Order: sequence, then structure tokens, then C-alpha cells
Amino acid sequence: MLSLTKHPGINKTDIRYRQVSMLYATLIIMACYFAVLALSNLLYFKHFPIAALDIFGCVSASLVYYYARVTGQFHRASWIIITVLMLVLGGFLVLTQAAAYALMWLTLLPPIAFFLLGLRQGSYVTGFYAVAVLLYLWRGVDEWELGKLTVGAVLNIGEVILIQWFIFRHYEKSRTEAFQLLRDSASTDRLTRLWNRVRLDEFLQDTLAQAGRAELFTAVILLDIDNFKAINDERGHLYGDTVLVSLAKELRACVRQTDRVGRWGGEEFLIICPATDIDGARVLAEKIRLSVAEAIMRDTQLAVTVSLGLAVARGEVSPNALLQAADEQLYRAKDQGRNWVSVATQYVEPAQRLSLVNSAQ
Ligand code: GH3
Ligand code: MG
Ligand code: MG
Repeated sequence: MLSLTKHPGINKTDIRYRQVSMLYATLIIMACYFAVLALSNLLYFKHFPIAALDIFGCVSASLVYYYARVTGQFHRASWIIITVLMLVLGGFLVLTQAAAYALMWLTLLPPIAFFLLGLRQGSYVTGFYAVAVLLYLWRGVDEWELGKLTVGAVLNIGEVILIQWFIFRHYEKSRTEAFQLLRDSASTDRLTRLWNRVRLDEFLQDTLAQAGRAELFTAVILLDIDNFKAINDERGHLYGDTVLVSLAKELRACVRQTDRVGRWGGEEFLIICPATDIDGARVLAEKIRLSVAEAIMRDTQLAVTVSLGLAVARGEVSPNALLQAADEQLYRAKDQGRNWVSVATQYVEPAQRLSLVNSAQ
């Protein structure tokens, strides 16, 4: 059975996820429906030009379905199928000389175009389509179907398409905004406004997958506040919170634009540095250790230190392997007496490569 849930490279928190589901649904429905229409037009109604249009729609939808599944080029597939839909609907309009039932089909395009192509491209496609249809209809005023297509009728059709354009544009806009808002709040830590663990996990997974393709290094630094429990106990939880906020602000200021900082949990933070080797990450970790202590002193008048564990991967390794290596170093930093950076001197290597090395020994 065909699965509708195959979304290579797109997870459920991606706004494109539903678009891809909709793309598959549209393609399957189009392929099946046009097949039925083609058969009925061939065998029953004997309307061969319309049957040819249906066959074109059916074959195109099937090919695009195959293309999307194989290549994962969902956006291009969406464009192709919207173009096919415009051609088929336009052809139907011409062949029936703008019969009422053909005009009704035109109202399908705006919602599908907005949903599959998004706000901006959906607007362009719907606008272009409206102008093209109206120009075509204008030619037929008072000529087709014994003068049934009047100026008033064309104006009505234009109004309907314009209203649809506004409604679906507004709908798509609010859908996108609501999605972003939800995604931001689901992936942000409320206290520090940094990324939370969910978002960090996603980013690390993506970064390591990319690193695998280009054989890049990826560094992670786990940071833990030293003796934080004592600060909470002595000064109270709220005071502890201001330390966390001050630390988060400073972390953000320390890292490069390509790095990502987030709250891993409690008083632990994770810094992910794509395309960074051991030397680069060690410099960053030292800089963080010093400047965080300085910033917290400035903001809260407390002498707070942090310990950091650092590990770097070469190529694509499992996120857990890399995080575990950094966690071990964090323990070592604490063992060293805290206020320390401990570095895994070996790169974390892909498991496959390690087993090759082992078997060669
Ligand atoms: P170590 O140097 O070994 O890391 O000692 P520690 O006291 O920092 O470690 P421990 O794990 O014993 O304590 C962590 C503390 O962090 C305990 C908990 O009360 C505090 N904490 C976790 N989340 C928050 C938070 O959101 N706000 C505040 N104020 N404290 C928090
Ligand atoms: Mg801790
Ligand atoms: Mg701690």
C-alpha cells in the first residue's frame, strides 16, 4: 500500500510537513479521479478531447508522484502539478466554452496553490490565473452559448476569484504565523529564551547529517554551573534564576552566528558548533568559561564559575555518542576541581569507521 507518511528530510515540526502530505494526497486523488473521468469520457460520453485532457492529468499526476517520492523535490513537484492543474482546468474551460460546470472547477486552484506553494508564490499563481481566465472569458462575451456569457457573468466570476484570493491568502498567512508562533514557544526555554532541548536535539541531528556528507567536524560543549545548588540554598531560587538569565545572555554573546546555544536542562547548557575542530572549540570553551564568570559577577555580584566538557565529531556520528563524550568530559572537569574545561582529545568517529579500524588491527 502507498504510504502517505514518507517525508524524507522533513520532520513533523517542519511547516512543510503538511504541505508534503497534501501534495501526496492531491497527486493520488488527481491520478485516480482523472483515470475515472478519462474512462467515462472515452467509453460513455464519447468526448474524446476531454478524455485526452483527463489522460494528460492522470499520467502527469502519477509521474509527479513518482518524482516526489524518489527525489524528495517537493517544491518543484508542487509547481509542476499546479501547472498541470492550470492546463487541465484551462483546457476544460476552452473545450466546454466556459460552461458553468467547468467554471466551478476553477475555484479549486486558489486553495491548492496557496497551500502547496505558500503565501507569496500562491499569491502570484492565483493572480496570474485569475487574469488569464478573465482575459479568455472576455473574448467570449455575447458569443458563446448563444450569448449566455454576459459582461455581468464575467464580472461575477472575477469577483469570486478575487474574494478567494483574499480569503486563502489571509488563511495561509494566519496558518504560517500560528505555526511559527507554536513552533517558537515549543522550542524555546521560557526562563532564558534560549532554545530548549527539543530544538537542540533537532539541530544537532541535522548538523551531524550534513557533517557526514561533507566530512566536517562538529563540536559540542556541555556547560554546567558549579555548586549551583548552594546559590539557590543561600540566596533563594529566584536569585538562582537571575544567574541563569545572565549566563544565557552572555553565552549568546560569546558564540558565532553559526553556533547554537540552548538550555539542556536545569543549570546545564549545550553549545553546538558546526564546522569547528578541537582547537577552535577549545578556544571558544575557554572564552566562555572566563566571560560567563565575569558577566554573572557584573549582573548579580556573585562569584559563580562554570565547568565545561567538550567533544568533537568527525563526519556523521550518532548525536548520543557525541553528547556522551561531552558529558564524560564534563564529569572530568568537575573532578578537576570545577571552573575547568575538559576536552576529549580524540575525535568521535562514525561507528562504521571505528569497526573497520578495529577489524584491521
Ligand atoms: P556541581 O558543581 O556538581 O554541578 O554542583 P551543583 O550544585 O551545581 O549540582 P546539582 O546537580 O547538585 O544541583 C543543580 C541545582 O540546579 C539544583 C536545582 O535546584 C538547580 N536548578 C535547576 N534548574 C533550576 C532553575 O530553573 N532555577 C533555579 N534557580 N535553579 C535550578
Ligand atoms: Mg547539573
Ligand atoms: Mg551544577
